[in-house]
Amino acid sequence: MSIDTLHPNRAGATVPSTALLTQPFALGRAAVIGAGTMGAAIAALLADAGVPVDLLDIAPDTLTPDEQARGLTLESPVVRNRIVRAGLERAKRARPASFMGQAAEDLVRPGNLTDDFDRLGAADWIVEAIVENLDAKQQLMARLEAVVKPTAIVSSNTSGIPIHKLAEGRQPDFRRRVLGTHFFNPPRYLKLLEVVPTAETDPAVVAAIRRIGEETLGKGVVVCKDTPNFIANRLGSIDSAGTLAYILKHEYAVDEVDALTGPLIGRPKTAFFRLQDVVGLDVAVSVQQNLYDLIPNDPFREMLRDPAVVALEQQMLSRGWLGNKAGQGFYKAVRDGKQRAFWVLDLKTLEHRAPQPPSYPSVAEAAQLPALPDRLRFLVRQADRAGQLIWAMLSRSLAYAAWRVGEIADDVASIDDAVRWGFGHELGPFETWDALGVAETAERMRAEGIALPAWIDQMLASGHPTFYRTDDRGRTTAYDPRAGAYRSAPLDSKAIVVRDLKASGKEVRRNASASLIDLGDGVLCLEFHSKANSLDAEIADMVRQAKDEVERNWAALVVGNQGQHFCAGANLAFVAQAAQAGQFDAIEQLIRETQDAFMGLRHCRRPVVTAPFDMALGGGAEVTMVGARVCAHAEAYIGQVEPNVGLVPGGGGCKELLRRVVSPAMRVPGTDPLPILQQVLQTIAGSRVSGSAPEARELGFLADDDRIVMNRDHLLAEAKALALSLAPGYRPPEPGPVIWAGGLRVLAGLQVAIDQMVAAGRASEHDARIGHHLAYILAGGDLSEPQWVDEQYILDLERQAFIALCHEPKSVERMWAMLKTGQRLRN
Ligand code: NAD
Repeated sequence: MSIDTLHPNRAGATVPSTALLTQPFALGRAAVIGAGTMGAAIAALLADAGVPVDLLDIAPDTLTPDEQARGLTLESPVVRNRIVRAGLERAKRARPASFMGQAAEDLVRPGNLTDDFDRLGAADWIVEAIVENLDAKQQLMARLEAVVKPTAIVSSNTSGIPIHKLAEGRQPDFRRRVLGTHFFNPPRYLKLLEVVPTAETDPAVVAAIRRIGEETLGKGVVVCKDTPNFIANRLGSIDSAGTLAYILKHEYAVDEVDALTGPLIGRPKTAFFRLQDVVGLDVAVSVQQNLYDLIPNDPFREMLRDPAVVALEQQMLSRGWLGNKAGQGFYKAVRDGKQRAFWVLDLKTLEHRAPQPPSYPSVAEAAQLPALPDRLRFLVRQADRAGQLIWAMLSRSLAYAAWRVGEIADDVASIDDAVRWGFGHELGPFETWDALGVAETAERMRAEGIALPAWIDQMLASGHPTFYRTDDRGRTTAYDPRAGAYRSAPLDSKAIVVRDLKASGKEVRRNASASLIDLGDGVLCLEFHSKANSLDAEIADMVRQAKDEVERNWAALVVGNQGQHFCAGANLAFVAQAAQAGQFDAIEQLIRETQDAFMGLRHCRRPVVTAPFDMALGGGAEVTMVGARVCAHAEAYIGQVEPNVGLVPGGGGCKELLRRVVSPAMRVPGTDPLPILQQVLQTIAGSRVSGSAPEARELGFLADDDRIVMNRDHLLAEAKALALSLAPGYRPPEPGPVIWAGGLRVLAGLQVAIDQMVAAGRASEHDARIGHHLAYILAGGDLSEPQWVDEQYILDLERQAFIALCHEPKSVERMWAMLKTGQRLRN
């Protein structure tokens, strides 16, 4: 059977482009309709990206008792916008946060669908995110057709209604501008955006939304066919129903399953059952029921009606055990004295009990294998219950994905992208299969009676042993079942992949912790690859080499990497050990070398652009601020967290906040320095970490002319472009007195602020000791008069304070506590 005969109803025929988007699509203003879980969060995402957005929901048709008591009527403005305001407030309070900062919140204009519908005429893109109901959505489409501009794009966030049905009854010109944009919850954090054209959607519309999705919103876009539940949820629904059936049949326990189905196999900590509780049983059941009817020809659909699964779900539904939103589901939060514990549901007795996951020797052994492919290969070969469950889950999910190729997507990469980005798996199904070995896995499946589509056999028989392969130019290519050959994935021109560059010989220099990589066009990249990318002597050495090399042979330098975090700070184990052993000279030498290396980059004769993402803490924050500019991913969590480990910044963190925040303000005559210095003191003393790059800007870690990039895959390319734009005629900052130091004039004021915190019980004695060191640095010491000092002057104060604190036993205790528990010790 070929994939075409398997799936005769393939949609997505090419449609000639219409004239409607002859101009490049520009997103000036957006609108979101429906301010529920998804709508308000999508509006927040648009605003985070700097797009002004109208958020509309229905005007209520009844008064609440409170509104009645206050004498309000249905005509009162506060009543008319009550629903939308409630949705917006929920988004503002959401944790993890939907909004990246106040500026984004200010970009959302709430309104209601009765009084403010005309506003939609100004929107370039309207996203519908109302209740999952075909009639309601169709009626809305009819109203939209009458008001939106002729070039506006209209999309629906529906999870399960076929997109072409939403557009039914509308004029052809409108239907060409309708498509699905299926965001995942929470939209700010889940990378996947499924874009779903109908057979009639203009390709220019798809291209425009793809570009906006990737570049403006930073999402990973997968263009899907208009098939039931698109890609991720189609696979996810069948996988979870099939897994649950297996779990019940073989009597696995909830805690047992979750110990096996999380990070051990490259999946999020939520693992199998916690994820069910996050989604909500009512939602999952309704998705399953809808999907069953929509896929009559899919033999796997019977898994959605497994009698044991249905019986369990019905019992849980009747008890209201929906998951997190109901306070209990497969887990239940239980108070145990002062502690909160999570009990698990016993799937037989339906009572919650304290967790006691069994420990498997095989799992302990697998946990020693750091590389996921090695772990997976090891685990599926184990004959114990752990190995059996993991094999059962994976084998079914790989087989199902293989059968759906051609129907839900023509290529394997779209399926892998959707699963990785939508569910946070480290590997998609075909990547997993490659990791396990395609031929032997297929053979084992067949031996166990798991049927596979013919294209898998054809692929193997024609000498194509894997789904992915790196070509001679170092690029990843994927097997295309239609062509029977490997094809390079459509290149994202804005994505630079460090691994691919290394594979194609672009690594110029390397030591154990860092590398120099040729990014092309004369730009060199300094990449950290130590554990958690923490700073050590080898990195300091490579920083020095990078400066020399870039000044000699290159136009610009980017400091960036593609690890899990940009840089988790200094190598704390080294400092803790040296401090405990009294080797203060060694610490002093490390700090001095780090300072010198960083100052070398700051005064480098070529522009240096740093590209932080995720965590940039302690020394990582200092690296962030070392260059001519920062090009930060929007999800950059930057902070000088040294006080958490009993220290102060020693590599320029205080100096940079003085230079970036305090000094510019003090150039304006008459400025009172104390409030600004107190704010910087609080940022460092409180170890504040930004929740986003815009917040890092509010805290002073980023300057106004630093860049923020929404798409992490684009970060290195954007940093490179920024570095190149600075290169012609670049002049490094002149050495000299550029930092305002208030001396004794401000020192007392800062010390009072610390003493007040102790008096109010917000800081311990040792916090205060650290705080006084910080105050001394930020004041520029005990200068009798305010004056402008050079950078090295402040760096010397930082180093002295750092060493002084290494002498303090309580600081050393804090370091060891962090190393051992990952938690801050409050001593
Ligand atoms: P929700 O129930 O939280 O919010 C729906 C909103 O629509 C409410 O604020 C409601 O007042 C409004 N509304 C109801 N009827 C309306 C009507 N006739 N006209 C205009 N507005 C109306 O729902 P949600 O979870 O945000 O889902 C919205 C859409 O997104 C659905 O199509 C859903 O399938 C899809 N979706 C949901 C999730 C999720 O995890 N919740 C994920 C992806 C997609």
